[in-house]
Amino acid sequence: MEGKNGSLRFDDQVVLITGAGGGLGRAYAMAYARRGARVVVNDIGATRRGDGHSDGPAASVVEEIRAMGGEAFANTDSVADPVGGESMVAAAVAQYGRLDILVNNAGNLRDVSLARMQPEDWDAILDVHLKGAFCVTAPAFRIMKDQNYGRILFTTSAAGLYGNFGQTHYAAAKMGLVGLMQSLCIEGRKNGIQANVVAPLAASRMTEDLLPPEVLENMDPATVAPLVLWLTSSACTESGSIVNMGLGCLNRVQLVTGRGVRFDATTPLQPEAIARMWGDVLDMKDARPFPDMNAFILGLFS
Ligand code: NAD
Repeated sequence: MEGKNGSLRFDDQVVLITGAGGGLGRAYAMAYARRGARVVVNDIGATRRGDGHSDGPAASVVEEIRAMGGEAFANTDSVADPVGGESMVAAAVAQYGRLDILVNNAGNLRDVSLARMQPEDWDAILDVHLKGAFCVTAPAFRIMKDQNYGRILFTTSAAGLYGNFGQTHYAAAKMGLVGLMQSLCIEGRKNGIQANVVAPLAASRMTEDLLPPEVLENMDPATVAPLVLWLTSSACTESGSIVNMGLGCLNRVQLVTGRGVRFDATTPLQPEAIARMWGDVLDMKDARPFPDMNAFILGLFS
């Protein structure tokens, strides 16, 4: 919605932000509320590892929003539980009558190398980031389909997009969200539902001990919020994109496919032949993106 002077407004729109009791989620909640949205602040109030439960963080963000004259309520269901996902979406609709925007932001961190990783570590990360996004997005998507309108955002990470030591589980979950988004934006297209992914860089309890203070100084979570607002506004027609933001940089990340080599599909190549063509296989000159799987398969014949 466009306000005075072309400003982006969210009046009459309802946004659900998961993990909004602190860090980036809190910054998003405040930014939406300032621009007129009614905000559902979800957060279980867990530790950085994802343990424990406290009503405090979500309640205090709601208090901050109300103190500046905004509209919000707290929800402390866990995203990792399908019942929790259904319940927070139902609460948003019961309170405000609709749900326009979902920002999947809740997250936890348990860095450990794969050699030392226990199945509990893997599950704890995948449950919150990837399954958690499913648990909340599926019921939200059904509401948005009925409304013929919706904006859904997922939160990936540079660790997922580029890889990072000690984060095989986190990276798998974060790249999984890219796949989820790419297929969801196809499924939502005819109902006016758009989905995108952001990869933020921000000072929060997730990053406070990973980077030096002089770098963290330039990573206020509030600096990422404008991208989240833009991508989920009715004025934005983008869907299917991955966008990095932080440390003064804003750029797009894209999966592209190289031209590669052609071979006779009726005759298996010998491994030695692949070794000889390897340079051409890896060559990314003229690499191109594909909007979906069918376009890629058809593209192989063109
Ligand atoms: P944060 O720890 O401050 O925020 C995460 C919030 O999620 C916490 O308030 C926590 O209580 C909540 N949460 C955890 N498990 C939950 C559950 N099961 N249900 C509901 N809420 C739950 O960290 P942050 O840096 O603000 O991270 C926000 C998101 O951004 C995460 O998905 C994170 O992976 C991602 N991210 C952050 C950075 C960064 O630089 N900070 C970089 C890349 C990606």
